[in-house]
Amino acid sequence: MKKRVGLEPEKVVREVVTRNGGDQSRLVQILREVQDALTWLPPAALTAIANTLKISRAHVEGVAGFYSFFYMKPVGQYRILFSDNITDRMLGAPKLMSMMSRILGVDGTGRISGDGAASIDVTSCTGMCDQGPAILVNGMPITRLTQDRVRKICDLVSVRAPVSEWPKEFFEVTDNIQRKDRLLNSRLEPGAAMRVALGMGRDGVLAEIATSRLRGRGGAGFTTAAKWEAAKKAANPEPRVVVCNADEGEPGTFKDRVLLNSYADHVFEGMTLCAYAIGATQGFLYLRGEYRYMLPQLEQALARRRTLGLLGRTIMGVADFNFDIEIHLGAGAYICGEETALIESLEGKRGTPRIRPPFPVTNGYMGRPTVVNNVETLAKSAAIMIAGAAGFSATGTSQSSGTKLLSIAGDCARPGIYEYPFGVNITQILEDCGAHNVQAVQAGGASGMCLAPYEFNRRISFENVPTAGSFMIFDISRDMFEVARNFVHFFAHESCGFCTPCRVGTSLLKNLMDKMHDGRAANYDLSEIMRLNNVLKTSSHCGLGTSACNPVETTMAKFMHEYVKRLQPVDFEPAFDLDQALKTSRQLTGRGDANAHIHAERETW
Ligand code: SF4
Repeated sequence: MKKRVGLEPEKVVREVVTRNGGDQSRLVQILREVQDALTWLPPAALTAIANTLKISRAHVEGVAGFYSFFYMKPVGQYRILFSDNITDRMLGAPKLMSMMSRILGVDGTGRISGDGAASIDVTSCTGMCDQGPAILVNGMPITRLTQDRVRKICDLVSVRAPVSEWPKEFFEVTDNIQRKDRLLNSRLEPGAAMRVALGMGRDGVLAEIATSRLRGRGGAGFTTAAKWEAAKKAANPEPRVVVCNADEGEPGTFKDRVLLNSYADHVFEGMTLCAYAIGATQGFLYLRGEYRYMLPQLEQALARRRTLGLLGRTIMGVADFNFDIEIHLGAGAYICGEETALIESLEGKRGTPRIRPPFPVTNGYMGRPTVVNNVETLAKSAAIMIAGAAGFSATGTSQSSGTKLLSIAGDCARPGIYEYPFGVNITQILEDCGAHNVQAVQAGGASGMCLAPYEFNRRISFENVPTAGSFMIFDISRDMFEVARNFVHFFAHESCGFCTPCRVGTSLLKNLMDKMHDGRAANYDLSEIMRLNNVLKTSSHCGLGTSACNPVETTMAKFMHEYVKRLQPVDFEPAFDLDQALKTSRQLTGRGDANAHIHAERETW
């Protein structure tokens, strides 16, 4: 790979670290900025970062190695990542990836082409499921990939055209809003919700949010007012912190993408509102690395709000109300969607979930009281201030007030964003999005619920079918075993590796599902899966591990025939298959010829 003239790692590191105030807690951002300049993180850069920040090199390398979007080996000039979510696969991603790999002369495992031009690999869901197949090229999303588009991309790569000069339509990401309700129909003049809040006072805001019965939209459904109240009352030293969790990495969800793109003022106003209510002075928007393309427009929105006096010192003339928001970019780690892992990442560390308690509301970012709320929750809190809590509370069900945004993808005519009052049933949703011959709906992402047709009268709500927003549809042509296998691969890839049951268990589970896929499994393997499920559920440190087997468990319960048809007709583990065991070696050495196989007749040797 050609070295870029004038960019010596040490010099780049000095500039970046200085720009970041020599702050160790900004290590993830420092690594990103250094990589932006050098295209990867060479050993000299890691050493220079460690020396400049006065921290151990092992720590720097440990952090860099944790995040998928940091590269400690050279990468192609064009780093192409195919979204590997099941919906992208259903839209033909694997074939398109093979085609592109063939044309560009790479093997699709991240290795660089001989001329140094390109590397191709897969990545977890990029949040473009409604307009897939999707890829990231040097971090920029390209949607609606077709064979024609693949050919054009390969032509551009072959002449080394800068990505900034590629056709604009390649990078078009549409909101795809199909159904609006209370939130998406609401309009917000910047500052309007805050004016209402200032009229109510801090306690009045907390009371209004409590009256709305708003619950967190990120998955757990914790009562928003209770969380804000707890942070406000926390005895820990100030300043308090508000974090917007925009790390939506659950496969199949993309609603936060749309809110950040078209309702950013709702989100920032919600953060400011929370800051006012709890007395916070510092805010972070943790933006997932896959949504980096939105960074400039979000920075502009923040700058506009500062100009309007809605961020900064003495907000809206209130003497003791100082609050500002900084955007922190993630780097491809699903686990950072878990609030304590996210806080670790904000502090410049590996995104390892913390032991709770203590909870972030008392001991969060830098040990300070911290509210971490989902994008949708914060946008809704701003809308509640404008429209009033009573109407919001009167919408939905007894335990789930208001509306829910669903990211609908998969086998339907109209994928996109749908906003419904809580309590809508699955049948209604399927009708609205034009889904036919549906055999299953996966609500809540990979770790969520797999619903069969006899359950389509169930309702979206915290008490019935909870979902953070993901809603994937599978018609009768789909193989639900392969759906589960895709999710299991996802968990194995995204396990942070901190605890052994999950680190080892998700890999063993993946191997068992692959064994079944290859037709080498027997009844014994089904019971092995159940044993593993038990270990994962009872011994994992966080929710990723405890729910990693959910897709297998639920598809087994409802689509057992897809598993049974793959089993060998024996009730003991099949003997060791030497030919299969050599499969990986054949792939690595590029051997596909007959002599690279162990044939049955040779067993007579
Ligand atoms: Fe990490 Fe998995 Fe353990 Fe969670 S359960 S801490 S993701 S290894």
